[in-house]
Amino acid sequence: MASERVLVIEDEARIAQFIERGLIYEGYRVSVARDGQTGLMIARDNPPDLVILDWMLPGLDGLEVCKRLRTASDVPILMLTAKDDVKDRVTGLDAGADDYLVKPFSVDELMARVRALFRRSQPVSRPEILRFADLTLDTGTHRAYRSDKPIDLTAKEYELLELFMRNPRQVLTRDVIFDRVWGYDFGGESNIIEVYVRYLRQKTETDGMPRLIHTVRGVGYVLREEE
Ligand code: CA
Repeated sequence: MASERVLVIEDEARIAQFIERGLIYEGYRVSVARDGQTGLMIARDNPPDLVILDWMLPGLDGLEVCKRLRTASDVPILMLTAKDDVKDRVTGLDAGADDYLVKPFSVDELMARVRALFRRSQPVSRPEILRFADLTLDTGTHRAYRSDKPIDLTAKEYELLELFMRNPRQVLTRDVIFDRVWGYDFGGESNIIEVYVRYLRQKTETDGMPRLIHTVRGVGYVLREEE
């Protein structure tokens, strides 16, 4: 399932191989560079999703490689170091490293750090532009438009409209809408869906625009063009 690409920059063959095997076993794709210059070239030509970077490297040291990687990208960087003192950690963090692992380490420890870095680097959700008929919803800014005119929505109205826009032409039962927008723990008795659908209709049907949110009697609602 995991197919993220990890770039390992480590000059000691034995350690590089140990890391590579561990990563491959976990399902990651791996590139290995034996010095900083090569690592930077690989990172530039084929940007990795995560970098494991040894501090002590011949030529450019890990710190310098870290700084240079940072000028071009936000890729998570895990630094490996034999130096375990506070000053070095601070120096590394200033250079843009995201985490540290002190040698020697176990493969389990390494994988736990790698997974944690991937979790941290995941965006909460990727913004999308959803479109249906002349409705547009920007999930990044939470703004909605009909025929390019902005629609002013409250947070719940937005969530309800997003649910419809993600499931166009599908009948959404009241239970599904309720669970997805208000959650199981909503205590109130409920014509709340009807109320919010009415708000959405008021806001999306200005100037005689055709209805898009239709009632399916006894079942729920559907976003579709008028028949
Ligand atoms: Ca080294």
